[in-house]
Amino acid sequence: MRRASNDTKRCVACGVCALTCPREAISIFKGCYAVVDESKCVGCGLCEKACPAGTIRVMEVQDGSR
Ligand code: SF4
Ligand code: SF4
Repeated sequence: MRRASNDTKRCVACGVCALTCPREAISIFKGCYAVVDESKCVGCGLCEKACPAGTIRVMEVQDGSR
């Protein structure tokens, strides 16, 4: 399965990804960087395309408990 992951050190907290996500899976933590709620993310890749800083990526991850 695929999930979005953000490089929080390079994220500029612009919020574009959060506005773009159709699942409302992204929030901006304390105005500092974007965090992805993996329980909501469906790996569609829209945030990756929208991020102007190129810090958010959709990657293959292990399915874990689900
Ligand atoms: S991959 Fe899609 S569902 Fe997941 S955080 Fe990005 S925009 Fe939202
Ligand atoms: S669009 Fe990119 S730079 Fe902007 S908040 Fe999201 S991950 Fe950070």
